Amino acid sequence: MKKKQLEIMLEKLEGFSNPSFQREQYATPARVAAEMLFLAYLRQDLGTVCDLGCGTGLLAIGAALMGAKSIGVEIDPEALAIAKCNAEKLGADVDFIRGDVHSLVLKGIDTVIMNPPFGAQKASAGDRAFLLKATEIAGTVYSLHHQGSEGFIRRFVEPCIVEEIYRIPFPLKRCFEFHSMDVKTIEVELYRITC
Ligand code: SAH
Repeated sequence: MKKKQLEIMLEKLEGFSNPSFQREQYATPARVAAEMLFLAYLRQDLGTVCDLGCGTGLLAIGAALMGAKSIGVEIDPEALAIAKCNAEKLGADVDFIRGDVHSLVLKGIDTVIMNPPFGAQKASAGDRAFLLKATEIAGTVYSLHHQGSEGFIRRFVEPCIVEEIYRIPFPLKRCFEFHSMDVKTIEVELYRITC
């Protein structure tokens, strides 16, 4: 499958029906998800893949469509229900698990691909809990972060190593009242970490 084809398929998926500001529920735009998955595909990282905080399932479903054995973990049952419908819609075979990253026990994962909460809200687990769990359960991690996170990420994941950093434009759609623009493009950083 071509990257553009994957993007077009992922664009068809339902987003959060009632996004929780506290849990920092921002769906990854289809273009960004396709970009992340293709980078992983080119590096042969799409074996057994886990999407931590899978939300409505975009990354987990995309990984399955690219041939991975795919698992999506999410704390919010509402988001998980949408993720399951989304997978069905595209005929993607994904194991969805309701779980909290803090207490998650998973074995046999090659790669984690995730867009974790950035940790701006107290109620969200924040990227630290996600990074800790991801580096604990997988040998390779793809993780999306705010611009300027490099110093923190490199130190935080040690002894794991940041192998590559990609800068990706991220169109942020208006989904909360306080957002003033309909679409604001920010730049995010995708880290490829190996353990
Ligand atoms: N991966 C999705 C959603 C990203 S938003 C996408 O790319 O579109 C981050 C997700 O992490 C939200 O769905 C939120 O509910 C989930 N989340 C927040 N805290 C969590 C926790 N402790 N355990 C599992 N999931 C959590």
